[in-house]
Amino acid sequence: MSTKPAAKSAVKKAAAKPAAKSAAKSAKPAKASPKAAAKAAKIESAFGMDPNDVLNDLRMSDKAVPLYEHVKRFIAETVEPMSEKYFKLGEGRVGADRWTYAPGQLELLNGAKEKAKKEGLWNFFLPDAETGEGLSNLDYAFIAAELGKNPLASETMNCSAPDTGNMEVLERVGTPAQKKQWLEPLLNGEIRSAYAMTEVHHASSDAKNVATSAVLKGNHWVINGEKHYISGAGSPRCKILITMVRTSPNAAPHKQQSMILVPKDTPGVKIVGPMHVFSEDHAPHGHMHIIFDNVKVPKENMLLGEGRGFEISQVRLGPGRIHHCMRSIGAAEKALDMMVGRGLSREAFGKKLLWLGGNIEHVSRARIEIEAMRLMVLKAAKAMDVLGNKEARIWVHMVKAMVPEKVCQIIDQAIQMHGALGVSQHPPLAKMYAQQRTLRLADGPDEVHHLVVGRNEARMYEGREEDSSMPVVFRS
Ligand SMILES: Cc1cc2nc3c(=O)[nH]c(=O)nc-3n(C[C@H](O)[C@H](O)[C@H](O)COP(=O)(O)OP(=O)(O)OC[C@H]3O[C@@H](n4cnc5c(N)ncnc54)[C@H](O)[C@@H]3O)c2cc1C
Repeated sequence: MSTKPAAKSAVKKAAAKPAAKSAAKSAKPAKASPKAAAKAAKIESAFGMDPNDVLNDLRMSDKAVPLYEHVKRFIAETVEPMSEKYFKLGEGRVGADRWTYAPGQLELLNGAKEKAKKEGLWNFFLPDAETGEGLSNLDYAFIAAELGKNPLASETMNCSAPDTGNMEVLERVGTPAQKKQWLEPLLNGEIRSAYAMTEVHHASSDAKNVATSAVLKGNHWVINGEKHYISGAGSPRCKILITMVRTSPNAAPHKQQSMILVPKDTPGVKIVGPMHVFSEDHAPHGHMHIIFDNVKVPKENMLLGEGRGFEISQVRLGPGRIHHCMRSIGAAEKALDMMVGRGLSREAFGKKLLWLGGNIEHVSRARIEIEAMRLMVLKAAKAMDVLGNKEARIWVHMVKAMVPEKVCQIIDQAIQMHGALGVSQHPPLAKMYAQQRTLRLADGPDEVHHLVVGRNEARMYEGREEDSSMPVVFRS
């Protein structure tokens, strides 16, 4: 976007102000060195209250408002009624049938997709790309929260995971031939994709552990390994797996892994079966257990280059990671709405449920937390827009660490307000809870996000001299 460099320098300018102010402040105790003052200034300018900080301007752009309104209308008028019929058709399917679509299901879904395409509600997740609407991450954050209120909304507008992250990777690092073969049909909504990283036998929250091997033999990579929880790979519409492999075991730890395109129908790709999530198989999407048994793919299937898997992760896990959080805000809003609705519609002990015990405080806390999360998510989106994915990663990790945990708590309270019905198949709360709970693992467990945020915080303080004017009790 042409405004990017300007915005970046605005951030620098804004950051310069508190730096000077804080340098003056920390000069007072006379002991702080210039290096320590600069570190203190960095802390203040990074997360403090700077009125000039462009990151605090969280308004949607004027150009995105009509699209946002259009998406809301489309969900209410097209997606909601279609979803009801779609899920009804899929009920009661058993055995192998579960891994196909029931007659009529795809027609309904494709009908809604065609309508969305015609109305221009298509691929707007891709920021700053010729192929997408070119929305900023901030604008998209507002829209994604609406998408999070219905399980089929994202897909009808071709904005669903894991395709969004995969399309972004292909768009950013794919060769013209890779784009033609895989990106085009993905952008058209004709096929779906999966991302295969997590391994059965290795702790995959540390991607350096990925051990599925890819060895170049002649003009082909030969791949061997075992992965699980590969979301979407159960669907007959999933045709391509972006697969994390180890190509360079002798290189530095961050240069050993690569990403490679593996068509799902390649001989040797053996789908063992679905991994369950709270005892559900999520058919036909599925989170599949896959063995790669001497899988041969052409050497041109390598993405970006050998040993560059971590570089690609930076692209994939920027916006893609935060999309989940944006949609989670929508899920939390829906849960709060249901919590209040139920609390006002039933009575016990002579009062509406809402006014019993601490229920009204749960509602208050939910509203407060949703607003706090919304601001955090918007700020992370804005940070990606002005600083770029790499520089904004701390904000991304902050929201990843915060949002799914809090949203789980809110949905849990909504379940409680519904009594037994809360855990039943009728209101969507049980499914919503399960989904949010998995987000505390998928894309990396909470602890890893906290580790990154905490380590960044500690590094800002490293080497700072102790301020003797501070009361002992406040010293860190
Ligand atoms: C529903 C669902 C869908 C998924 N979809 C996909 C997908 O499409 N593709 C894919 O590749 N993977 C997918 N995953 C897998 C997910 O990304 C991994 O489960 C996750 O990265 C953790 O890896 P692991 O399971 O090997 O856990 P491990 O790495 O073995 O970690 C286990 C636990 O150790 C602890 N831990 C780890 N690191 C730290 C740390 N630094 N500090 C403190 N504690 C720590 C945490 O409590 C963590 O939960 C999915 C998972 C789920 C549940």
